[in-house]
Amino acid sequence: MTLSLYNTAVREKQEFVPMEPGKVGMYVCGPTVYDLAHIGNARPVVIFDVLARLLRYLGYDLTYVRNITDVEDKIITAAAENGESIDELTRRTTQAYHDDMVALNAEPPDIEPRATEHIDGMIEMIGTLIEKGHAYEAEGHVLFNVPSMEKYGKLSGRNRDDMIAGARVEVAPYKKDPADFVLWKPSTPDIVGWDSPWGRGRPGWHIECSVMAKAALGITFDIHGGGRDLIFPHHENEVAQSCCAHDGAEFAKYWVHNGFLTVEGDKMSKSLGNFRTVRELLEEAPGEALRLNMLSAHYRQPLDWNAEGVTRSKTNMDRLYTALQNLQDIDAGTVEPAPEVVAALEDDLNTPQALTALYTLASEANKASEPVEKARLKGQLLGSGQLLGLLMLDPADWFQAGEAGDIGEEEIEQLIKDRIDAKTAKDFAKADVIRADLAEKGVTLEDGPGGTTWKRT
Ligand SMILES: [Zn+2]
Repeated sequence: MTLSLYNTAVREKQEFVPMEPGKVGMYVCGPTVYDLAHIGNARPVVIFDVLARLLRYLGYDLTYVRNITDVEDKIITAAAENGESIDELTRRTTQAYHDDMVALNAEPPDIEPRATEHIDGMIEMIGTLIEKGHAYEAEGHVLFNVPSMEKYGKLSGRNRDDMIAGARVEVAPYKKDPADFVLWKPSTPDIVGWDSPWGRGRPGWHIECSVMAKAALGITFDIHGGGRDLIFPHHENEVAQSCCAHDGAEFAKYWVHNGFLTVEGDKMSKSLGNFRTVRELLEEAPGEALRLNMLSAHYRQPLDWNAEGVTRSKTNMDRLYTALQNLQDIDAGTVEPAPEVVAALEDDLNTPQALTALYTLASEANKASEPVEKARLKGQLLGSGQLLGLLMLDPADWFQAGEAGDIGEEEIEQLIKDRIDAKTAKDFAKADVIRADLAEKGVTLEDGPGGTTWKRT
């Protein structure tokens, strides 16, 4: 099997062939850090984390770049509203973002450029675009002139009228063409800004990614990823800037986009008040259950985030960890993903199919009786888990990680001791009462040859 990916640029599934054998450069649009990450922000992070794990497993030397947009108008507005400096706001929300993504088992990217560290590169690329006749200065703004690029609209497959309507472009008197978009805009003295040949100002969002991608991966690189909602105008504009600044050189070879995410059937929106932050979801379910729920839909399909799905995912994680727990006395064989899991992921990252294969492994493990077979299955469960970013905990820790407010570990251990004492004293009624009390508090006891173990249910 070889890796195939659906490439938005050609609208079909293609065999993945890197530019340089054995090496892959991947750029994924990261967050604009002005608030806590919501579940829609987390979807691309988890998906591209699986792709990164797969590429590494397949032996590629991967450079994974995911940026931080730390200068953008939403940040300026949020900082003013919170009475916080921009620095404080972006530092606080970047840290929260990192913590939340770690809780979802997403590994950090290799390079995480921040827009504010690349202002010089942005000024340089904008200058080049002006020089080459693709951009112009008007009233302190610099705009990209869309009609100057013949292939504009190719990535998104939009015609001119769609583009103008889709971008909700601001009609501004200084624009030569209504589709023209901002590369640089003026800042008033009270707003964050940098000196430039066009006066004090700040970059537009699109130019940030073109410049950060180039700085980390060069003019042309293998994979560019992000949410589907970014195809237009953000990615279309990135292509325009980068190609035109480099005399038509190709920007990204493969464009990989994840589908939309809805919450309980509705689009997430401020007006509906249904923004679900990763942070609050982590209070309702462990990170691995959230991650599994995220991977339960194919990345290109829409994903509806709902309470039922989270509960089902938690139960599925319990099933997987139960299989591992049953194998706790077995030394794992080679820790290697099951071939079916690899094959599913190589087929355009088919995570639902990979998860089905993982559940099958768990059932086989539960039925296995031969130690050799158990060792093989344990190795495959762990290896497949690593590839998917799941089963990273010790089963005991998974089952014992109760929600806050539950009965504490010390108390449980004490009650287990009391129960053993009661049994030793042949006070079986008391032992049964302790067991029932614990069951009522969601703690199940299991008596085995090695003593009594417990888990939360
Ligand atoms: Zn971007």
